[in-house]
Amino acid sequence: MAKTRPGVPSKIKTGRKELDSYTIKGTNKLVRAGDCVLMRPSDAGKPPYVARVEKIEADARNNVKVHCRWYYRPEESLGGRRQFHGAKELFLSDHFDVQSAHTIEGKCIVHTFKNYTRLENVGAEDYYCRFEYKAATGAFTPDRVAVYCKCEMPYNPDDLMVQCEGCKDWYHPACVGMTIEEAKKLDHFVCAECSSDDDVKKSQNGFAASPADDVKVRVSLFCKCMCKIVQKLEADINNGIVVFRWKRSAEKDNLEGFLMGTSHRGAGKLVITWKLFGGD
Ligand SMILES: [Zn+2]
Ligand SMILES: [Zn+2]
Repeated sequence: MAKTRPGVPSKIKTGRKELDSYTIKGTNKLVRAGDCVLMRPSDAGKPPYVARVEKIEADARNNVKVHCRWYYRPEESLGGRRQFHGAKELFLSDHFDVQSAHTIEGKCIVHTFKNYTRLENVGAEDYYCRFEYKAATGAFTPDRVAVYCKCEMPYNPDDLMVQCEGCKDWYHPACVGMTIEEAKKLDHFVCAECSSDDDVKKSQNGFAASPADDVKVRVSLFCKCMCKIVQKLEADINNGIVVFRWKRSAEKDNLEGFLMGTSHRGAGKLVITWKLFGGD
């Protein structure tokens, strides 16, 4: 099979009948609307396509068709695969299609990013999605992502990171001069900047950080195709409200803005959801 071009509607035939489920050829696996499936690509050397089934139909001659919504792999996106994209990363696209059910090879699970990072073992059928993707423009939603480490990159769940007990930022071992083996053996880690800072001692002495504590976060605003960071923001999280101040890079004027949302730590990671108010 081949993906049709985005925005080209498939031909609609009459005499169709909606089906509750479809059994994948040669298996006893049932596919229903809402399930995620792997589909045979047109190029046998490529990994399978991933889609979410929206509707299953049989036509007058009993050919089964699935209405699906494509997930794109990073390499299929206009911006291409980036360093922070994980091997199992998918983008939920706005590209809908109709395909023959025969192209379905198996089922898979597309987790939320948070749930995926909490999996004890990642199976072949496990994927995750943290961005929606507009196939025609190459734009992602959300277009703001939390960044970590000296290299200021979004989190790639395939890469080991260590958390500094002082600033709570996460670091790639290589970025702080460690091997992965050394990082795995660490019980405690304090980054170089925090090692020379007295405030760390306070937080190590029983002032355990909780999500309600003030936490500094850095957020990068990416351009729509995520090829570059257009603005770096620093923010304080105070009781779940993120307040930040930023400088417009192109102009000299200082802007004050509010980034409001909630924050919580899941599996040792800081997750921020927010809405932008003020500024632009
Ligand atoms: Zn790094
Ligand atoms: Zn630190």
